[in-house]
Amino acid sequence: MDKKTLHLLTYSLVVVGALNWGLWGLFNFNLVNTLLGAWPNLERLVYVLVGASAVYDFAGHSKYCKYCGEKKPE
Ligand SMILES: [Zn+2]
Repeated sequence: MDKKTLHLLTYSLVVVGALNWGLWGLFNFNLVNTLLGAWPNLERLVYVLVGASAVYDFAGHSKYCKYCGEKKPE
Protein backbone atom coordinates (compact mmCIF):
# COMPACT_ATOMS: atom_id res chain seq x y z
CA MET A 1 0.00 0.00 0.00
CA ASP A 2 1.49 3.37 -0.94
CA LYS A 3 1.59 6.33 1.42
CA LYS A 4 -1.17 8.24 -0.32
CA THR A 5 -3.62 5.31 -0.05
CA LEU A 6 -2.63 4.77 3.57
CA HIS A 7 -3.11 8.46 4.31
CA LEU A 8 -6.54 8.53 2.64
CA LEU A 9 -7.54 5.43 4.59
CA THR A 10 -6.34 6.70 7.96
CA TYR A 11 -7.76 10.17 7.29
CA SER A 12 -11.17 8.68 6.42
CA LEU A 13 -11.14 6.62 9.61
CA VAL A 14 -10.28 9.66 11.71
CA VAL A 15 -13.15 11.58 10.07
CA VAL A 16 -15.53 8.67 10.72
CA GLY A 17 -14.42 8.56 14.35
CA ALA A 18 -14.82 12.31 14.80
CA LEU A 19 -18.25 12.37 13.14
CA ASN A 20 -19.34 9.43 15.24
CA TRP A 21 -18.22 11.24 18.37
CA GLY A 22 -20.03 14.41 17.26
CA LEU A 23 -23.23 12.51 16.50
CA TRP A 24 -23.02 10.76 19.83
CA GLY A 25 -22.54 14.06 21.66
CA LEU A 26 -25.34 15.86 19.81
CA PHE A 27 -27.97 13.18 19.37
CA ASN A 28 -26.82 10.35 21.60
CA PHE A 29 -26.55 8.38 18.35
CA ASN A 30 -23.57 6.07 17.87
CA LEU A 31 -23.30 5.35 14.13
CA VAL A 32 -20.57 2.73 14.46
CA ASN A 33 -22.53 0.96 17.18
CA THR A 34 -25.71 1.13 15.06
CA LEU A 35 -23.94 -0.35 12.04
CA LEU A 36 -21.66 -2.84 13.79
CA GLY A 37 -23.22 -3.33 17.22
CA ALA A 38 -24.27 -6.82 16.22
CA TRP A 39 -20.56 -7.70 15.94
CA PRO A 40 -18.95 -6.31 19.11
CA ASN A 41 -15.46 -7.44 18.12
CA LEU A 42 -15.74 -5.67 14.75
CA GLU A 43 -17.13 -2.54 16.42
CA ARG A 44 -14.19 -2.53 18.83
CA LEU A 45 -11.77 -3.04 15.93
CA VAL A 46 -13.15 0.10 14.23
CA TYR A 47 -12.52 2.15 17.39
CA VAL A 48 -8.99 0.75 17.65
CA LEU A 49 -8.34 1.49 13.94
CA VAL A 50 -9.66 5.05 14.37
CA GLY A 51 -7.29 5.55 17.30
CA ALA A 52 -4.35 4.02 15.45
CA SER A 53 -5.14 6.17 12.38
CA ALA A 54 -5.19 9.32 14.52
CA VAL A 55 -1.75 8.44 15.91
CA TYR A 56 -0.43 7.73 12.39
CA ASP A 57 -1.81 10.97 10.93
CA PHE A 58 -0.61 13.00 13.91
CA ALA A 59 2.88 11.53 13.65
CA GLY A 60 3.17 12.39 9.94
CA HIS A 61 1.16 15.61 10.15
CA SER A 62 3.91 18.19 9.68
CA LYS A 63 5.14 16.43 6.52
CA TYR A 64 1.98 17.09 4.53
CA CYS A 65 0.45 20.03 6.40
CA LYS A 66 1.17 23.28 4.58
CA TYR A 67 1.04 25.24 7.83
CA CYS A 68 3.06 23.01 10.14
CA GLY A 69 5.49 22.10 7.34
CA GLU A 70 6.51 25.70 6.85
CA LYS A 71 10.08 26.43 7.80
CA LYS A 72 9.69 30.18 8.40
CA PRO A 73 6.97 31.64 10.61
CA GLU A 74 4.91 34.31 8.87
ZN1 LIG B 1 -0.70 21.33 10.60
